[in-house]
Amino acid sequence: MKNQDYNSRRTFLRNLGAGASALSLPLAGFGETLTYQNEHTGIHSLVTNLDSIRSSQPGRKLGIALVGLGSYSKNQLAPALQQTQYCRLAGIVTGTPAKATEWMQKYNIPKENVYDYKNFDRIADNKDIDVIYVVLPNSMHAEYVIKAAQAGKHVICEKPMAIYPKECQAMIDACKKANKQLAIGYRLHYEPFTKEVMRLGQEKVFGAVKFIESSDGFRSGDPTQWRLKKSMAGGGPLMDVGIYAIQGTRYITGEEPITVSAQFAPKTDPVKFKDVEETMFWQFEFPGGAVSNSTTSYAAGVERLYASCEKGWFELSPAFGYGPLKGRTSKGPIEMPVVNHQAAHMDGVCKDLLDGKQLPDHVTGAEGLRDVTLLQAIYRAAETGRKINLKKA
Ligand code: NAD
Repeated sequence: MKNQDYNSRRTFLRNLGAGASALSLPLAGFGETLTYQNEHTGIHSLVTNLDSIRSSQPGRKLGIALVGLGSYSKNQLAPALQQTQYCRLAGIVTGTPAKATEWMQKYNIPKENVYDYKNFDRIADNKDIDVIYVVLPNSMHAEYVIKAAQAGKHVICEKPMAIYPKECQAMIDACKKANKQLAIGYRLHYEPFTKEVMRLGQEKVFGAVKFIESSDGFRSGDPTQWRLKKSMAGGGPLMDVGIYAIQGTRYITGEEPITVSAQFAPKTDPVKFKDVEETMFWQFEFPGGAVSNSTTSYAAGVERLYASCEKGWFELSPAFGYGPLKGRTSKGPIEMPVVNHQAAHMDGVCKDLLDGKQLPDHVTGAEGLRDVTLLQAIYRAAETGRKINLKKA
């Protein structure tokens, strides 16, 4: 996976820095051409001009409706939506009337913007809501993303996009048919430390990447939660946080793995983990020659993304949580601004939507489908004990 948006902006700025004396840029969707001539002050003025001209609806914030008011909505997304520049918390969908009352008061949400799962489809008539953000258990993502698209809204769906690739494809198709965009909750793609390790790996700053260690796990609590039920979660820690470890290997290399091998660890609590794996390991081979080893677990904490390259190394640890993330390289610490991940993510997505731009591929349903395909390949490799050739899978 290439972080093309990030890299193309860097290349664009670098090219400008080379001293363009006359630029003539067609502006998509505006039917006009901006011509700028100034060798010395060009960079700053041009970017400022582009940003303001592109902002077709200056000052407007897209209205987001959160579907599912569980932990992530309550503790991360709603607070982040108080800080966002391009979107705001406009509505909620909940099956619990007490939560509706609490949220309406706390966030000043009008009654007509509150829905339950039975009257969800009526959201189609609500002009205040532009984007529906699905924050439900994994097995419910496909159904509500498809309903949201059919209601004529853009959609953000939490990770993992779904449990099976065919569900992902149906979600992509529904959004395409409705002519609406589909983003996945890949908050780290808007996070500066993560964007920096994407650059270090993909631009081969320390030479070619040879080996990646990428692991994410934590000690899971409540034994009754949906995350431990295969029918709702699709699996155990691999579906929940292992997906971050998969992403890490893909965004450091900018490549898709060509083989996968995987192993389940023995269960230390077979009662709690009767339905899903407790801990597992997997290895990828990449076309450029890099290999990776990953762990995910509900029994032990681990959160690390490390890359060993021909001429040095770099790492993030913590690498995947809500931050602040911390990074080092063989040449010294990585210094980056600390941002609110959820606010950066929702603003990044909504700014593109407001500007009428296509979302970068690596934050869309296409990327979600690639990850879900790999999740299922990892399970298949662990179940069969065989190395799977992903080019044929
Ligand atoms: P949660 O259990 O705290 O919340 C789930 C919500 O779904 C609850 O409000 C619950 O009432 C509602 N719900 C509706 N129907 C339900 C049903 N039949 N069974 C169970 N719950 C039902 O979970 P969460 O931690 O908020 O996770 C929700 C989604 O967000 C998951 O897909 C998860 O992977 C994702 N998530 C992403 C991040 C991230 O960093 N991007 C972090 C946490 C969670």
